[in-house]
Amino acid sequence: MRPEVLYPLFKPIDTLKGVGPRLKPALQRLVGDHVVDLLWHLPSNVVDRRHQCQVADAEHGQMCTITVRINQHVKPPTRNRPYRVVCTDDSGTLVLTFFHAHTDYLTKTLPEGELRVVSGMVEHYNNEVQMTHPDHMVKVEDLDSVLRLEPVYPLTHGVSQKVLAKAIHGALDQTTNLPDWHDKSLLAKQSWKPWRESLLHAHTPTETTDLAPDALSRERLAYDELLANQLALGLVRRGMRKAKGHPTQGDGSLRQHVVDALPFALTGSQTTALSEIITDMESDLRMLRLLQGDVGSGKTVVALLTMLAAIEAGGQAVLMAPTEILARQHLKTIELLAEAAGVEVSILTGREKGKNRDRILAGLKSGDTKIAIGTHALFQDDVAFAGLRIAVIDEQHRFGVHQRLELAAKGTAVDVLVMTATPIPRTLMLTAYGDMDVSRLLEKPAGRQPVDTRVFPSSKLGSIAEGIGRKLDAGARVYWVCPLVEESEKLDLAAAEDRFEDLKKMFGERVGLVHGRMKGKDKDAVMADFKEGKIDILVATTVIEVGVDVPEATVMVIEHAERFGLAQLHQLRGRIGRGSDASSCLLVYQSPLGDVAKKRLEIMRETEDGFVIAEEDLKLRGAGELLGTRQSGLPEFRMADLEAHKDLLSTATNDAKVILEMDADLQTERGQALRTLLYLFERDAAIKYLRSG
Ligand code: ADP
Ligand code: MG
Repeated sequence: MRPEVLYPLFKPIDTLKGVGPRLKPALQRLVGDHVVDLLWHLPSNVVDRRHQCQVADAEHGQMCTITVRINQHVKPPTRNRPYRVVCTDDSGTLVLTFFHAHTDYLTKTLPEGELRVVSGMVEHYNNEVQMTHPDHMVKVEDLDSVLRLEPVYPLTHGVSQKVLAKAIHGALDQTTNLPDWHDKSLLAKQSWKPWRESLLHAHTPTETTDLAPDALSRERLAYDELLANQLALGLVRRGMRKAKGHPTQGDGSLRQHVVDALPFALTGSQTTALSEIITDMESDLRMLRLLQGDVGSGKTVVALLTMLAAIEAGGQAVLMAPTEILARQHLKTIELLAEAAGVEVSILTGREKGKNRDRILAGLKSGDTKIAIGTHALFQDDVAFAGLRIAVIDEQHRFGVHQRLELAAKGTAVDVLVMTATPIPRTLMLTAYGDMDVSRLLEKPAGRQPVDTRVFPSSKLGSIAEGIGRKLDAGARVYWVCPLVEESEKLDLAAAEDRFEDLKKMFGERVGLVHGRMKGKDKDAVMADFKEGKIDILVATTVIEVGVDVPEATVMVIEHAERFGLAQLHQLRGRIGRGSDASSCLLVYQSPLGDVAKKRLEIMRETEDGFVIAEEDLKLRGAGELLGTRQSGLPEFRMADLEAHKDLLSTATNDAKVILEMDADLQTERGQALRTLLYLFERDAAIKYLRSG
């Protein structure tokens, strides 16, 4: 249960005073749903309001705080002219100007004849000293509240600096001092202040250096978060390990059939990864292993052989994919090979319904069906297995940690193999998987040629299409990718449909279209046509991003390449260069190209190495965004910046290890404080792995 001291922080954001129905959705978009989310929204800048001067000394373009007497309000002669308030001090006249003024508000805030402190940007304009829309207009006794370094928060549409600052203050008021969860010696060594003090300080910077990630208060908060994360991972992992595994000892017979049926020999990497996996499965500890291999490195066949090992030992296996298309593709690949071994395979997705679904469920329950391939539908409560031994989760970054656990809960002591094509940088690896075991497919299947990647402005689309025509004549198969951006899904879809029509005019029936809004069956049909070469150009939205395997495709055009992140571009490009023919990728951008987008496209042109790309991505974007965290299952860090706080991360990893060795169930006084920390950073899922609540 969440500690009571944290209750106020986990109330909905609109329980704060001043946050009404209009502000609520904007704040939710900006920070999150709860009061606590406001605490993590730190200033990104400061405005120095400490410069206090007289009107005559106020320079153009300077941020000034000035005490003046309000002389006269002057209504504008026409609506498009500003409302003016003329003020003076001993040295001269200052004119405050307001566009679209709320007259009532201004006459109340700036009563004629009285003294007021105003603060804002001074401009010399038409021989006047002016201040347009002062940021502050307060009574003289409130001067001190203005004369300071004022935090500036990142904003979103519908939220102003003032209301945000007020909401954040409201949230800070809900905090109390908490018993420290850190080791005293660490606090002393780092000169870190207690949690609440650090938090308050982070929100009231007194120097611009307080904004840097290495400012003491920010460091402390980042470390809090990193420790919470590492501790949670440690607990989950222990929870997974706690149950002993079934030693799975296959005789290799089924695997042999499949290896014999393969049209290729396994790569060295595949063989090594397999033997690591098999060793795990044979041991009496539960397997929790990540198989990391760049796109096209051949993970599927490793998955199949792994599953067969479990089946040889009398068990069942599931293979879980993030999308319907992928699940069906896996089915196609695996069914054929599994047949060689006489193994029955079923698919279970949202599309299997009624009698058909009942039949599939019965097969899994009786144990006749050995392999289930599917999507999230595999999580449903009524899906039961006779003896599930292994769960393979493909393209894992779409699933969260707890989903992995749910799947594993479908059997007892189920071994788990997670496969990802996302080259996760070392730093992120730790945060997402803790000390999960890792196998890597570093080597690509033999005979692959590098993809020739080029960058073009969209003004070149005409000649690109002509070039594509020549490639088609030479027998190429082409992906033509149009981005689908959530904000205006309809518009983007329309763009893809338009492009489809354009290309059809040029190339006739050889063009197909696939997008996320299509019915599953229709999607399959188009994909199958492309795979079989009935169509040669596939206009697609990013539904083809992950995993789709058509080795014959050698050309990819990506429109609006500037809209994609590096990881996504890399995934997309990974759809080509999978066969032995040379491939080319054309990245088409819409001008003007921003600096970051430009850099991304350059990186894509320079390298195909997923790890290099991921590291560059981390640098360009910061870890929070790296994989599109919302759908990534990777933890979203609010305080920690994995680039800047790299060293803290390894400290946190060790710290968490020591904690779990010394106080495995967080029973000591510090342990109790650490529980609060886990709740504070919403890592509560891990709490259920404590042996006593
Ligand atoms: P990914 O790791 O991206 O999931 P896949 O498993 O889809 O990659 O494999 C990509 C392609 O490489 C497939 O067409 C597959 O049949 C082929 N492949 C896999 N292993 C080998 C190998 N050892 N030699 C040659 N081709 C291979
Ligand atoms: Mg794959």
